[in-house]
Amino acid sequence: MEKIGLYIHIPFCRSKCPYCDFYSSVKAGDMTDVYTDSVTEHIDLWRGRIDKKADTLYIGGGTPSLLGGGRIAKIIEAAKVFGDFDEVTVECNPSCVEDDFFKKIASAGANRISLGLQSAVDSERKKLGRLAGRKEIEKCIADAENAGIGNISVDVMLGIPCQTEKSFDETLGFCISCGADHISAYMLKLEPGTFFYKNKDRLNLPDDDFTADMYLKMVSQLSEAGFAQYEISNFAKEGYESRHNLKYWNCDEYLGIGPAAHSFINGKRFFYNRDTDAFIGGEEPVEDGAGGGFDEYMMLRLRLKEGIDFGEIRARYPDADTESIKKKADVFVKKGLAKLCGGRLSLTPEGFLLSNSVISSLI
Ligand code: SF4
Repeated sequence: MEKIGLYIHIPFCRSKCPYCDFYSSVKAGDMTDVYTDSVTEHIDLWRGRIDKKADTLYIGGGTPSLLGGGRIAKIIEAAKVFGDFDEVTVECNPSCVEDDFFKKIASAGANRISLGLQSAVDSERKKLGRLAGRKEIEKCIADAENAGIGNISVDVMLGIPCQTEKSFDETLGFCISCGADHISAYMLKLEPGTFFYKNKDRLNLPDDDFTADMYLKMVSQLSEAGFAQYEISNFAKEGYESRHNLKYWNCDEYLGIGPAAHSFINGKRFFYNRDTDAFIGGEEPVEDGAGGGFDEYMMLRLRLKEGIDFGEIRARYPDADTESIKKKADVFVKKGLAKLCGGRLSLTPEGFLLSNSVISSLI
């Protein structure tokens, strides 16, 4: 039986970044112990409900490191009722990491951290509301390595206020040389309701052409430095691809625990409301219909560099018209946006930049 991925959401942050619409509150205060206990209770509850083992655990947020190493270790230990994990990732914000944080989580089994870098240029980080400077980030990476955490991922952002080719080169250079094994690179999206959205005209944002050029330059520079692209926004040294996140893109099953966490189990999608008190109070998740249909599979799989395999599609969706997809893909192949080869269809880096419209046309 395929193993699922287990996701735990930690809904607290020290302060709210001006671009972020993830569910988190800045009122962790006295709630940290109550929340930790509530998560461990929910883990036990779900273990009794579903007869599936998990092989990846991802603790994200919010800012999991704000909970402290002891509480994160407690959650990791509790999660082991789902089996032995091959990969245990903890998201960390370099401004919220206590001295022995990495030692505590490593001794509980964490073997991967995802570090919110966003930019290696301190002035850019400040504009993004990030409190730590480059020195704290370098210390974080060294501490994690000293604690024996051998898989380090850093997040960077393209298209941020005042970003220039020179400043992006500095960030890329830092990512390549800082000891990271995995890089996630996302384009800034202006999400309704955020400070950035309300003030978009005053942000001095680079234009779309600049951001697209930086993206293509990044794909080629990271590849030269040994970070192969395996998803639209993700790059890894060989063997360091995120096993947990691959479950999302492969349309595999996962269970999400915590407010705003989503799940896909036994063909059904469901999610917890964005309400920490309700979660602690035992509110059940909301049903979100059936999942794993053909369109969804195409949307997710075509985010991956390896794309879709027509044989696999025929086995999974016998009614899918693969010949029509190939015909429609032809125009994108001619434009250099897609590749059709050996029974597979995948997007090129140029195609990734237009992925939404290319994939919509195909399905
Ligand atoms: S630390 Fe992360 S989750 Fe928290 S506000 Fe900033 S971007 Fe959002």
